[in-house]
Amino acid sequence: MKIYNTLTRRKEEFVPITPGKVGIYVCGPTVYDFIHIGNARPMIVFDTLRRYLEHKGYEVNYVSNFTDVDDKIIKRAIEENVDSSVISEKYIEECKKDMEALNVSPATTHPQATKEIPDMINLVNTLINKGHAYEKNGTVYFRTRSFNGYGKLSHKNIDDLESGHRAEAHQLKVSGEDEKEDPLDFVLWKPKKEGEPSWKSPWSEGRPGWHLECSCMAKKYIGGTLDIHAGGEDLIFPHHENEIAQSEAANDAEFARYWMHNAFLKINGDKMSKSLGNFFTVRDICNKYDPQVIRFFMLSAQYRTPLNFSEELVQDAAKGLDRILNGAEKLAGIAGKNNGKPLSPEEEKLLQEELPKFTDRFDEAMDDDLNTADAVSILFELIRFTNANTNENSSSEFAEKLYDTLFELSDKVLGIHIVRKADEIADDELSKIEAMISERTEAKKARNFARADEIRAELLDMGIIIEDTREGVKWKKA
Ligand code: AMP
Ligand code: ZN
Repeated sequence: MKIYNTLTRRKEEFVPITPGKVGIYVCGPTVYDFIHIGNARPMIVFDTLRRYLEHKGYEVNYVSNFTDVDDKIIKRAIEENVDSSVISEKYIEECKKDMEALNVSPATTHPQATKEIPDMINLVNTLINKGHAYEKNGTVYFRTRSFNGYGKLSHKNIDDLESGHRAEAHQLKVSGEDEKEDPLDFVLWKPKKEGEPSWKSPWSEGRPGWHLECSCMAKKYIGGTLDIHAGGEDLIFPHHENEIAQSEAANDAEFARYWMHNAFLKINGDKMSKSLGNFFTVRDICNKYDPQVIRFFMLSAQYRTPLNFSEELVQDAAKGLDRILNGAEKLAGIAGKNNGKPLSPEEEKLLQEELPKFTDRFDEAMDDDLNTADAVSILFELIRFTNANTNENSSSEFAEKLYDTLFELSDKVLGIHIVRKADEIADDELSKIEAMISERTEAKKARNFARADEIRAELLDMGIIIEDTREGVKWKKA
């Protein structure tokens, strides 16, 4: 598989550190409100990367944090007159619900910054001991110029950055950071202000800086060198640049081998963001559209292409998804007939010669820097192939094989369910239906036909039609 690496600005062949295993760290949301659909883009895209790597046989350790201590959370907590953990815990739960709706698998680990403070303090200590950090009045700063590679990810020249910063001398005074040795230095640990959450440390009672959290949690849950580090492109500078500086200065090892950044989800040409106020929450959009449509919409563009959000484009995605679901439904119908008919020579030939080409081309698209846009168009081709080559008289085995391929590519890899929600039956409903059917069978055995008919009517009320066949009782949705 080739991955575009922000570090080298080239597509490179992906080679994991340990054969067969991949460690991925994805910067997660700051939890002070419901997430918006812009935040959902990296979640969906990198979940799809994870699924694809699993489809290729890798064992994936997927770590994505929740930033649960931050100015925005504290501000919200003060407004609502609650502890900031009340805000962060609430929105972590809400975020998890949105992720589930979007079929984003839970990470192997979802670390939270506030639960990792001792490790963060250790990391700051290491940096101070190695001369890469210093304390001034309770604040610890990273000594940016002490790290040689600074600027390598964002391709910025450190002297250009310096002159950019010099103009901000006045701002430094305002922010209380005028005690820095160099304007390029950034905060690792800051003392608390009145009413802020804080932890004891050798320097002050305070809290860690945002960049430090990710460096610390990535190492703890994956290791000193990550295979892949990912996030939205707004994180390249300064967040990821600073993560590299802290981690490489502390560990003397390369921090991440491949850096992947998704482009923005835009609205009328602007980045969708909380601060611009031009956002839709995942929750609102999912009340209006099937969340699967949103996932399908996101994957209809390659992740490095900016994607414009409009209701019209979402409606187009809904129509496209419908074509796939109709195809799947047709196949399920033929497969479900269980007609036991052998494959025809024509079907056999198609299965052996034509069907594998779809999987190969799908993989080829995904191998090209996760080109989900091309992968989706191959799903459409598979649906056209299905429609052209199946009918009522096709063998069930043929339909089943086509269905299995569609299921693997769409459901498992892209995370797009191929069964309509309305057609799904929850486990408890399923057990109830089965219990009612056995009760009816017993009633018939006891020649209690009135009760048997009553149960049939009750099932019909639940939208279930039953049929007595030679193989036993069959049922389907009305
Ligand atoms: P935040 O909560 O702002 O730290 O963002 C969480 C994740 O969402 C980060 O990886 C951001 O880069 C990403 N993100 C935020 N806004 C957008 C957007 N409009 N389009 C794509 N990604 C975004
Ligand atoms: Zn991060």
